[in-house]
Amino acid sequence: MLQRPKLVLVGLLSVFPWVFEAAERAGVDLILVPRGDDKRERAEQAKAVVELLPLDIEGDPDGALAALIERYRREPFDGIMAGNEKVIPFVARAAREFGLAGLTEPTAEVVRDKRVMRQRLLEAGLGVPGFVVIKDPANWADALTLRFPVVVKPADGHSSFGVIRADDRDSLEEVVARTWKLVEAHLGAPDGTASDAAVLVEEYLDGPEISAESLVHQGQVRVCAVSWKGELTGPYFEESTLRAPAQLPAEILAAIEAEVIGAHRAFGVTQGSMHTELRLVGGVRPVLLEMAARLGGGGNMHHLVHVGSGIDLAAEALRVHLGQEPVCWREEPVPTGHAAVYLVPIGGGGRVKRIHGLDEVRADPRVDYVVQTAGPGSVLRAYPDWSGNPAVVLSHHDSDAEAAAYLDHLARTLRVEYEAQD
Ligand code: ADP
Ligand code: CA
Ligand code: CA
Ligand code: CA
Ligand code: CA
Repeated sequence: MLQRPKLVLVGLLSVFPWVFEAAERAGVDLILVPRGDDKRERAEQAKAVVELLPLDIEGDPDGALAALIERYRREPFDGIMAGNEKVIPFVARAAREFGLAGLTEPTAEVVRDKRVMRQRLLEAGLGVPGFVVIKDPANWADALTLRFPVVVKPADGHSSFGVIRADDRDSLEEVVARTWKLVEAHLGAPDGTASDAAVLVEEYLDGPEISAESLVHQGQVRVCAVSWKGELTGPYFEESTLRAPAQLPAEILAAIEAEVIGAHRAFGVTQGSMHTELRLVGGVRPVLLEMAARLGGGGNMHHLVHVGSGIDLAAEALRVHLGQEPVCWREEPVPTGHAAVYLVPIGGGGRVKRIHGLDEVRADPRVDYVVQTAGPGSVLRAYPDWSGNPAVVLSHHDSDAEAAAYLDHLARTLRVEYEAQD
């Protein structure tokens, strides 16, 4: 028998079960590099994890790579995959060091920087809103040339942190200052200098939001599923619902696919699993918001794809990062239904007392996963100053209408209660 392949999974929180379960299904052993804020006991016990390898990637990337080289010398591993946004460049560097499948280092830099993504899309002739890069908040007026409304956001942010819509020219200075402050407070360089901090101001793309999950193996791209997020109009962009498969006409789905495949080419992405967010301008024209070189939502996008298209996305992602051909390259998958994801909104923020309604939800046969990421006592800040989601509910349904109705039900019944402020 062939030895089971071993893959280094970097920085995926062990509270998110999807990749860990997929590794079991795919027969892959995981060496988990735990995130600093992960719970050690839970990480040790996660399915398929045979080893924990703590590395200080953010504080000391060179030391972390040296430790990984040392580990490889003891016993080689067969793949490496990023479990969160920040470690993507490190994982690309390690993949090169060991000759493993993955993004090249230049591509890893491209997909970590919204400015560069915009520039690449522009050069490739793909859809791009008007945009201006602000490197100093004093230069906010540079963006007055844009068509309003606009969206102001960190150049290398995540989770809609610090993303704010500005409706008119009068509010721009204040909005840029607000986003800038949030960038300085939370996204600065490790030494706190935030020396290459920048914000991006973009024309507002008016239309519903969608997401596309894709696999790419040796340059060949497959868009596995398109999910529907619906209208998110701001001024802050806390995402709360997703449904798959998105109920869209074939020609719009084809246009989405073309745009996403074009973006892989434009960014130089030839190996990996990608999470791409787009807006359908006017309900019809797909324009990229951004692409992330990882499974979306801590892996919860796997559920939408698995149910909605039959592709075992998380298992395929592991294969692609082991340099293996995805199974869906040779076997046509069979969809099993409609999937929904509900992210419990933060609401007002504060110190969490409890989340109302979760027990009822756990008992519902349509619900496949309830993951609570903020237990009693954790502190959540309201948007745009995001600091984590309270909980996520993943379910399956017989139709898109039923999925939508269930999401409405969750919105009415789930609520975070915060401790009274003194
Ligand atoms: P992040 O890395 O923080 O997720 P995004 O660029 O994806 O940054 O922006 C977060 C959200 O803000 C998007 O999901 C979208 O709802 C909204 N948004 C960002 N840019 C635009 C834009 N140009 N037009 C409309 N909405 C936008
Ligand atoms: Ca284990
Ligand atoms: Ca991102
Ligand atoms: Ca995003
Ligand atoms: Ca997102």
